Formats: sequence, structure tokens, C-alpha cells
Amino acid sequence: MTVGQSTHYNAIMSDLIFRFAPSPNGHLHLGHALSALVTRDMAQEAGGRLLLRIEDIDTERCRLEFETQILEDLEWLGLEWEKPVRRQSEHLPLYADYAARLGEMGLLYPCFASRKDIAAQAVQGKTDPDGAALYPNLHKDMPEEEVARRKKEGEPFALRLDMEKAIATAHVMSPAPLTFQELDRNMEVGETVLANPARWGDAVIARKNSTTSYHLSVVVDDALQSVTHVTRGRDLYAATDIHRLLQVLLGLPVPLYHHHELLMDEKGHKLSKRHGDKSLKSLRSEGATSRDIRQLAGIDRK
Ligand code: GLU
Repeated sequence: MTVGQSTHYNAIMSDLIFRFAPSPNGHLHLGHALSALVTRDMAQEAGGRLLLRIEDIDTERCRLEFETQILEDLEWLGLEWEKPVRRQSEHLPLYADYAARLGEMGLLYPCFASRKDIAAQAVQGKTDPDGAALYPNLHKDMPEEEVARRKKEGEPFALRLDMEKAIATAHVMSPAPLTFQELDRNMEVGETVLANPARWGDAVIARKNSTTSYHLSVVVDDALQSVTHVTRGRDLYAATDIHRLLQVLLGLPVPLYHHHELLMDEKGHKLSKRHGDKSLKSLRSEGATSRDIRQLAGIDRK
């Protein structure tokens, strides 16, 4: 099966499956409302199904109270989704199995470096598409004895993808160019995008405190849940490079993608929990209706 042809889902499939996949590490704000509503509207217009997935792999930052609030906010917005809701924290051993497959292919290596170590060694001006310092391959060639010693001493480590090797392996498995189909809001195929995972460097596949990372669990779950349409913000557009690479390496099907525009604040920054942007909960307590939210999120005009 060649990438770019039959692995892409298309409209003749009877079940079109969309998903909204929030992380319960804070309250939902208008940007999330936009994402949720775009996903629901597209699913509805296509006669497709809507899933909700709770991406709570980060056990330090995710909290049950946020999850409860997310469900309440989404119901208030008028979303209906299929039950049961998949919660990623309940599937951590499964992601470990997928990571192990990459490990058996010789594509992962342990990295003990802290953020501080990485920042100290980072090469000025070399950043990934998110603007973070590009990993300077610090522990890539660590001697086996040192790896064994550090592991024995219980030093925590992440698993990183040997990007060069991973790209070469994927190319052997599927020689066609690594691409994805970007749909516009009307579900027309807008463009075939060439994925460029190399620009991410040796990405983390399993975090120090987890069996997985966002990149790994998202591709595994989209495949296991037979998601045909991934709709999410433009901030995750470049991450699709890594997702496409993992899909080839793990033999997973390829959904279609729609990355919607982001909502910006007056200063031109994307809305975020961290910047204290107004939560849906507080907008609601100030009297906003779900119709107001559609307008504030720029979906409907006044
Ligand atoms: N969990 C991610 C987030 O809240 C979204 C993941 C996705 O849609 O692929 O930003």
C-alpha cells in the first residue's frame, strides 16, 4: 500500500469519524470552543460521527475537576458525542507497546537530559516549528555502559526518536513522499502537504514521567478509534509531520486533516490557558449564551 493513495480515507467510506480531543490541564477558552464547534459542525454537515477523547497523559498537569468542567462546557455548547469517552490515562500500557515496537526497530534511544541541560547546549537560532530549542542530540550516542549505569541508578529518561534513522526506515517501508491531505472547512481537498519531520529533530516519543507523548498517543488513538477526519487548530499543523512519520512506521491508517485558523488576542498571541484568557466557564457566568460563544469564536457573524 503506498502512502498518498489507498491509505487515505475518502468520502466513499460509510463512517466518517471526527473527534475533539482536549487536554484537561485547565479550563476551556474560546479557542477550544472554536475547535469543538468546527469539529461538531463538520461532522454534522458530513453526516459523520463525533467522538470526544480526553488527552490526559500528563498526570502532573491534568486534573479530574478540569475534565468534569470540560464535559459540562461542551454540553452547554450543545455538543453531543458518543459514549464511552476514551481517556488516554486508561491506556498507558498500550502506548508503551507501540513505543516498544519503535524500540525494536532500533529507532528510539534514552535521553536523560533535563530541559536545563538542553537549553545550555542548544545551538543559537536552531529551533523546532514550535519555537523551542532544537534538541542538540545530547545523549544520542551515549555509550551502552553509561546508559546501563544511569538506568540502574534510577535516573529518569525520555525515549527519543532517532529522526534520521526513522525517516530512512519509513522511506524503505513506503517510498512515496510523506504527505497529508489538508481539507478546507467545506471538506474540499485544499492541498497535499509535504510532511517534513526532520525539522523537529529527535522528538520525544515517551516522556520521562510517562509511557508516551502527545505524538504517539494521538496517532495510536486516531487509528484505534478509526478517526477519518482530524480537525484541530493551526498550532498543530506542523506536528502532523511527526504524526505522518509515526503512522508509516507503525502501519497505521492516515486520516484527512483540517487545521483551522487560531483565535488571537489583541496583541496577536494565540489564546491560551497560560495567558489567563477567559474561560468558557467565566464567560458563561457573566451571562454569555452558547450562541454568543459561536459569535465570539468567529463562527457565526453577528
Ligand atoms: N490534546 C490536544 C490539545 O488539547 C489536541 C490534540 C489534537 O487534536 O490532535 O491541544
